[in-house]
Amino acid sequence: MANFWEVKTLAQMSTDEWESLCDGCGLCCLVKIEDEDSGRVYNTSVSCKQLDIESCRCRDYENRLNDVPMCTKLTLENIAQLHWLPESCAYKRIYENKTLPSWHPLISKDNNAVHQAGVSAKWFAVSEEYVHPEQLVDFVIE
Ligand code: SF4
Ligand code: SF4
Repeated sequence: MANFWEVKTLAQMSTDEWESLCDGCGLCCLVKIEDEDSGRVYNTSVSCKQLDIESCRCRDYENRLNDVPMCTKLTLENIAQLHWLPESCAYKRIYENKTLPSWHPLISKDNNAVHQAGVSAKWFAVSEEYVHPEQLVDFVIE
């Protein structure tokens, strides 16, 4: 039987399927800054205070949208506008009709594979708890 992510569009996925698509990279939980002139949004290597950097999981996923103003809920409606999502993001990849990488937990059955592949925030993020907001510009990454 074919895997759901190979045959369904994002719109056709159940809530459980949608949630399981997240690879746990934590890269969407990096603090962003916007260039006021161009409107362009840049990622920084600073992570949201609610991100557990070791596991790259949110400490309060259920309440995240109430607790953290910058937290963005990924939806079918906004995914095309979220240019700061990493190329590896499973939602972005499915949206762009791409396959999932071999390290994706749905394929590897290993939640650590995303870290071992070196594509998670675990290896470089520093929590915003330790960075003054005025210093954020020094942490901008591609
Ligand atoms: S970037 Fe995409 S795959 Fe990675 S944690 Fe965020 S939503 Fe999940
Ligand atoms: S509150 Fe949002 S941005 Fe912060 S760690 Fe949780 S999911 Fe990521």
